[in-house]
Amino acid sequence: MVIGGGSGGYAAARTAASLGLSTVVIEGGEEVGGLCILRGCMPSKTLIESANRYRTLRQAWEFGLSAQKIGFDAGEIIARKRRLIAEFADYRKRQLESGRFDFIRGRAEFLEPHLIRVDLQGEGEQIVSLRSGCIATGSVINRPSIPGIESCLISDDLLEMTTIPASAVVLGGGPVALEMAHYLESLGSKVTILQRNTQLLTGGDRDVADALAEAFRKRGMEVLCGTRLLRIEKSDDGFSVFFEHGNGEQKVKADLVLNALGRRPDLAGLGLENAGVALEGPAICTDLEQRTTARHLFAAGDCCGPYEVVHIAITQGETAAKNASALLKGEAPLAMDYRLKLFAAFTEPQMASCGMTEQEARENGFQVIAASYPFADHGKSIVKGETDGFVKLIADASDGRILGGAVVGPEASEIIHEIVVAMAFNATAAQLALVPHYHPTLSEIWTYPAEELDEKVTKK
Ligand SMILES: Cc1cc2nc3c(=O)[nH]c(=O)nc-3n(C[C@H](O)[C@H](O)[C@H](O)COP(=O)(O)OP(=O)(O)OC[C@H]3O[C@@H](n4cnc5c(N)ncnc54)[C@H](O)[C@@H]3O)c2cc1C
Repeated sequence: MVIGGGSGGYAAARTAASLGLSTVVIEGGEEVGGLCILRGCMPSKTLIESANRYRTLRQAWEFGLSAQKIGFDAGEIIARKRRLIAEFADYRKRQLESGRFDFIRGRAEFLEPHLIRVDLQGEGEQIVSLRSGCIATGSVINRPSIPGIESCLISDDLLEMTTIPASAVVLGGGPVALEMAHYLESLGSKVTILQRNTQLLTGGDRDVADALAEAFRKRGMEVLCGTRLLRIEKSDDGFSVFFEHGNGEQKVKADLVLNALGRRPDLAGLGLENAGVALEGPAICTDLEQRTTARHLFAAGDCCGPYEVVHIAITQGETAAKNASALLKGEAPLAMDYRLKLFAAFTEPQMASCGMTEQEARENGFQVIAASYPFADHGKSIVKGETDGFVKLIADASDGRILGGAVVGPEASEIIHEIVVAMAFNATAAQLALVPHYHPTLSEIWTYPAEELDEKVTKK
């Protein structure tokens, strides 16, 4: 039994069914589709696509082009998003209703470890028994106890917003905050980002985060890190956000405040205590086999973490289903491997990373060598007029094996895949440097840090 029909839950269900398990998916959302399709990756990237194209029009003169009387209609941007999302959601609904497994619409609650009750959304209830299960209930917005936080908009609201405010304060410095800041500024908002950590993208490499902050500042955004939010006050002429930064209390006024302070696992009403499923912090506690503290129950996606992104939710769902099957058949379980973890922020410039950060590599006991190369010195990015940022490679000093990579710059979310493929095959920097790269491309920028790392290894 799978609870939740989003990215993690659907992956678990199709895998379980393909392994011959009699499978049921229970989905209790108002709409079918899950976060990625309905209010996450796909709608946000659809809006950002419009913003990026508008930025291109604004920069026409730089390329000897004229684009006069340019403008946008935020209502039309949202209308396009709704059309696309309706298609994606319809596709997911058809996948869930394809007959490969049973599909029940309703909220699930554990009564006992092997028994759940499904509230059939006004049409009574159904009791379902299970031999093994995967919990994939996703996440909800986090509203920390800051006075006035409830008056802020959240990303769901921005995805439906048909007017663009003259000014906006974005609370948070994670990917959702930065992508929304990029969207709003592209369409003309004066944006201030307030981040609590001393850098954007907490947990990532500082030089990478700082390059993104610098590029945002060049665009005219105010980026303040190391802040402490005090309160948000709403009045007739907008919002005032009070915070501590440096020398005492400060205030910034704006027409809109976006709460992008993160999400937390959606576990309300699940009755996990009746199933023997324990939490670790706010999330379901799982091991690398995606097993919870109840031997027959697994979990996948945002409800357990540790990385709240889609491709990981999918791999966790598949792993959970394979291990549920292995448990029933008496076979050996599989473990998740995060060596190739990928991450991207669809900002402008974009940011992407894979594998370990420099700090993580050091913490894991590696003797680390790192090399970077700026887009400002790279032919193709100069031609494209996109020279902010750099690429960075991290390798093991003993043999040059690539441990991680990061990009701030044009098409970062695409060109990072060269490094993830190299890492998948355990390539060294020397091997990467020898791979042919067509000229002039953005991808060939990787050969510079690869050659530099190879020299560092050879000289040793
Ligand atoms: C604005 C935004 C942009 C994002 N952009 C990206 C991106 O570019 N790339 C990326 O990789 N990730 C992105 N993410 C994150 C990504 O969307 C999530 O990590 C992913 O969708 C989580 O999938 P999931 O299966 O864990 O949860 P979900 O897709 O949320 O699925 C959980 C499902 O469980 C159902 N459910 C909950 N409780 C119950 C219950 N008791 N009974 C029955 N059903 C229940 C819910 O209705 C829901 O459909 C973004 C997130 C946001 C908010």
